[in-house]
Amino acid sequence: MKELRTSVVPGMTHWASPNFFAFFPCTNSAAAIAGNLIASAMNTAGFTWQASPAATEMEVLALDWLAQLLRLPTTFMNRTSTGRGTGGGVILGTTSEAMLVTLVAAHDAALHRSGSVGVSHLPRLAVYAADQTHSTFFKACRLAGFDPANIRSIPTGPETNYGLNPSKLLEVMQADADAGLVPTYVCATVGTTSSNAVDLVGAIADVAAMFNAWVHVDAAYAGSACICPEFRHHLDGVEHVDSISMSPHKWLLTCLDCTCLYVRDAHRLSDSLETNPEYLKNDATESGEVTDLKDMQVGVGRRFRGLKLWMVMHTYGTTKLQEHIRSDVAMAKMFEYFVRADNRFEVVVPRNFALVCFRIKRSGAMTEEDADEANRVLMENLNKTGRAYLAHTVVGDKFVLRFAVGSSLQEERHVTSAWDLIKKTTSGIMD
Ligand SMILES: *Cc1c(COP(=O)(O)O)cnc(C)c1O
Repeated sequence: MKELRTSVVPGMTHWASPNFFAFFPCTNSAAAIAGNLIASAMNTAGFTWQASPAATEMEVLALDWLAQLLRLPTTFMNRTSTGRGTGGGVILGTTSEAMLVTLVAAHDAALHRSGSVGVSHLPRLAVYAADQTHSTFFKACRLAGFDPANIRSIPTGPETNYGLNPSKLLEVMQADADAGLVPTYVCATVGTTSSNAVDLVGAIADVAAMFNAWVHVDAAYAGSACICPEFRHHLDGVEHVDSISMSPHKWLLTCLDCTCLYVRDAHRLSDSLETNPEYLKNDATESGEVTDLKDMQVGVGRRFRGLKLWMVMHTYGTTKLQEHIRSDVAMAKMFEYFVRADNRFEVVVPRNFALVCFRIKRSGAMTEEDADEANRVLMENLNKTGRAYLAHTVVGDKFVLRFAVGSSLQEERHVTSAWDLIKKTTSGIMD
């Protein structure tokens, strides 16, 4: 412990600090830590149901509970009031994996549709996402074997607050179809990483349906907010998509790693990813009554991640989890109010959740480049103090600071003192 304190801790970036406002928070809780610790001690590798029955059942149960919290349609659930459904979920490590496995299922479906023998039509499959989509989507497409020339990144702008415009999507998909390509997969994001833009899930699903393309919703961060009725409308239309993923390790008090992937037809995923070697054959699998989670993920071995998520929901319950989201949003609103009240600054895009995108605005003889430079210096000077940590993005060609509220130990006073520090630091560079 002494070595840890002297040699490791000083070299860490302190994600758990209440003065951490960078990226998105990794939220945590006593229940999640306990769940993780117990799961580590048990150290199961529940690839099949038989390899760890209760671990599989608990993961399935936790996913169904979370689906209920999110008011996802029962078509995404493992079990419904009428028995076993056709949908299902799995807990993965990252959103990137959720994209990769659904891309593979979608490309199999598209190859099948286009009458391809083997993968001969693979070079004709095309995928779509807004230019604000997380970069890992483009990486997942490469991993899944899509031709980079057929990966469409559709430009967005301030007129849609950087959300994907469904009519632009239609234009691009139609042009591809006319050129003999097979529109295969559309990724819609609810709460982009850069600025928390929201793509219109229902309208995008309607466009994709015209081409039979798979629709995936990436709600890695903002999905957690949708457990509150006042944010749930961001998922409207989700009943028409094929899959959705969100990461409780970002904003739902569950320590890394925990990404929940839901698919409307679990067989479309498992048909693509299933393997049945002799050494894993067992009666439970043969019965067709159980879920073998190895068939919904990249690897075979898997940790008991369901326990920590189950413990978080069981310990805190709906009300406390909703309060946690609302308190972060209230702090972000307060920060947004501070920014708007100071005429040296601007809020660059409307705040949707607990992320505020702001900057020193151009004034007097400043050019846009000067303003960008002032913001870059502001961020560097703030971070150098060690008393707050912020990250940046570029939105509509402007260098923008991202203030992400929500680190687990954060209170109003931390937001207020970060704002005081921002004002002081700004005065230091503007005078
Ligand atoms: C964080 C984030 C990702 C990347 O997630 P990983 O789990 O690190 O792969 C993808 N999409 C969005 C919207 C995110 O916020």
